[in-house]
Amino acid sequence: MDIADLLCCPRCHSDVDLGETLLRCTSPDCSFFWTGFPRASGQPVLIDFERSIFERAAYDDDSGSVFDRDDTGRGLRVRLRRMLTGPNPVTPAKSRQMVELLKQQTSTPTVLVIGGGAIGAGADPLYSCPAIRIVGTDVYASMNTDLVADGHFLPFRDEMFDGVWIQAVLEHVLDPSVVVNEIYRVLKPNGIVYADTPFIQQVHEEAYDFTRFTLSGHRWLFRRFEEIDSGPVGGAGKALVWSIRYVALSMGLSTRLATLFALPFFWLRFIDGFAKPGPKSDAASGVFFFGRRSGTPLTAKDMLPYYASKR
Ligand SMILES: [Zn+2]
Repeated sequence: MDIADLLCCPRCHSDVDLGETLLRCTSPDCSFFWTGFPRASGQPVLIDFERSIFERAAYDDDSGSVFDRDDTGRGLRVRLRRMLTGPNPVTPAKSRQMVELLKQQTSTPTVLVIGGGAIGAGADPLYSCPAIRIVGTDVYASMNTDLVADGHFLPFRDEMFDGVWIQAVLEHVLDPSVVVNEIYRVLKPNGIVYADTPFIQQVHEEAYDFTRFTLSGHRWLFRRFEEIDSGPVGGAGKALVWSIRYVALSMGLSTRLATLFALPFFWLRFIDGFAKPGPKSDAASGVFFFGRRSGTPLTAKDMLPYYASKR
């Protein structure tokens, strides 16, 4: 499927005209018919700027990025930080499981990655499966994205995707439940979602950091989805290593010096391997939800048994 067949206007859901000269909404009743959408590094920027935290001016020069960041993951700073906090202990297995489930459903799965400017830690199996068509989006253009979008109003038609991958993103959006409703809308009826989101972590990405979730809060956020699996991503040890780094940052040390300050304590994260499931979740560094779009949402009465089932 061509990517143009998936797209619609993020404001009014009309078709978009991907013409060479002006990229715009095809409905004359929509302001994007008149103003068109900008491009960033050649990629469409399909953001409804009036409703978004992101300004049109940030993209109008075609430069494409509101962030200065390392999308390759090979820079020294990124590698040092990964050494400190360790690999993601959950995502590689979930990524492989998602590939298997998608291949059972269709021979040509299409997966939307929200926040895919940099490939998430452990997401490689998804990217390396040749049968899977990845549609990468983020709020900036990168070598891993096809277009720029804001998760609160995705520029995709209803029920277009077999899977959605959203890793370390929901803490950066103003209204996570709006984003999860959009994920529900663009997924096919049996579509699969994987989300991991921080719990005990300090502010990162500066002004673009808004929310944290307990395991139960995260499950409730995805209440319209049927669970395949959910649980902690890293426990109290990993959270403690993060905290030690932020002790240094709070004293005014640079990010690089703060990482060096915390490095001697990297071993604390190995404690998580001995943690009991319940208390580990209560103090987790992050939480994940892996599930399927479902017709029967959870109710309030399901939440206490859910907590008990994760002890
Ligand atoms: Zn429109």
